[in-house]
Amino acid sequence: MTIIKKEVKRKQYQLIKGMKDILPEEQKYWQTFEVMTKNTADKYGFQKISTPLVEHFDLFRRSAGAVSDIVEKEMYNFVDKGGENIALRPEFTAGICRAYIEHGMLNLPQPIKLYSIGPCFRYDQPQSGRYRQFYQLNFEIIGEQDAICDAQIILVASKIYQKLNLPTVVQINSIGCADCRPAYEEVLRDHLKKYRSKLSEVSQKRFAKNVLRILDSKEKTDQEIVKDAPQQVDYLCDDCRQHFIQVLEYLDELEIPYALNPRIVRGLDYYTRTTFEIWPAEGDPATVSALGGGGRYDGLVELLGGRPTPAVGFAVGLERSINFLKEQKVEIFESFQPDIFLAQLGVESRKKSLALFEKLCDSGIQVSEGFAKSGLKAQLEMANKLGVKYTLIVGQKELIDGTIMIRDMEGGIQEMVDAKKIVAEVQKRLAKTQLNINNIAKEGDNCQNQTAK
Ligand code: AMP
Repeated sequence: MTIIKKEVKRKQYQLIKGMKDILPEEQKYWQTFEVMTKNTADKYGFQKISTPLVEHFDLFRRSAGAVSDIVEKEMYNFVDKGGENIALRPEFTAGICRAYIEHGMLNLPQPIKLYSIGPCFRYDQPQSGRYRQFYQLNFEIIGEQDAICDAQIILVASKIYQKLNLPTVVQINSIGCADCRPAYEEVLRDHLKKYRSKLSEVSQKRFAKNVLRILDSKEKTDQEIVKDAPQQVDYLCDDCRQHFIQVLEYLDELEIPYALNPRIVRGLDYYTRTTFEIWPAEGDPATVSALGGGGRYDGLVELLGGRPTPAVGFAVGLERSINFLKEQKVEIFESFQPDIFLAQLGVESRKKSLALFEKLCDSGIQVSEGFAKSGLKAQLEMANKLGVKYTLIVGQKELIDGTIMIRDMEGGIQEMVDAKKIVAEVQKRLAKTQLNINNIAKEGDNCQNQTAK
């Protein structure tokens, strides 16, 4: 008799293009930024807001502008089952302003200071530091026009990197307001028109509708052409000039390193006056990828149906910030660093260990275990890898004697301890070695330069 084996076709699924798994070993970097964000927000009085991942497509079309890259090329939008044109958020600000209006936050004492952290989506061409799903942390001050808010927003953005020992520089510009910008755009067009045919294809398209964006083109030929272009700061109206000077004075006072950069125009229609980006301090201006950026957007709330409301904010990208952290070799400690490893030998010991594990945890001891392993060698290897100070071994003999073996992982010395006194004994030994490095994570400062370790 012949047996016909049925062929099972295995299909392996892969990540969608531009998406990224954040594996367990990467999580400590993400946690560092999350903790840092929360601590910074608390310190400067920002409250957390979480808006949905999806909004009406039109919200982004209106806010970012129909000719922005985001709306023209990068939106993840679809028609849902109810026939609505829905988009995954490409950034936070529009959704936050919608929430500000919808929940009547205008009636609360102003300004409203909000922060968010979460994924955004842009259907961009994936490359190093650019994904289709990426994470941003985002801060906004809504309802105040004073330049001190611009300075505080820039301070908060800089502080996050400063606290992580990451050298950054603020690239800053002012793009004026609806009163003074049109005249500057004309001057710029006038200057560029003689080079129009030499501009890159994208910049040629932007010439009529979005001439400012030619200034931040990444194309070498465009960069050469705009090098000597007239600068917006020389064409600001009195109010915008005054505002810009005040912002810079505040930055001087705070000793925040900055560089005036006429090419920082940002990609979205809603910006007014201050625009800025955070760059790695050593970044090459021709090729640098900004870690984050932001600026003032005094007209956006009104554009979205609210009352005229000045506002300023910024967002930084976490993937790029984490890459920078790694490049700078800043060492991040694991937020969970066990002090004790619990090893067991045999079925009965395993049962006892399960309860002992709970007892140790409940006493505030950081403990890890090897329940899934049966051999002592493999468990001691695990303990070594984890870098614990002591391993507790619960074996058959110990079970009968009512004892537990405690092994000092550094010297290999082993001692028998009365099982009833094991928690107190562990606490006593740990207190002596002052091992709990988790204290270092306090205030989010769970990092040090590698040399400092
Ligand atoms: P933007 O508002 O476009 O300047 O974005 C602010 C920050 O978000 C950037 O400086 C990046 O760090 C990050 N970011 C924007 N788009 C992407 C992307 N496609 N992939 C990864 N990070 C991004």
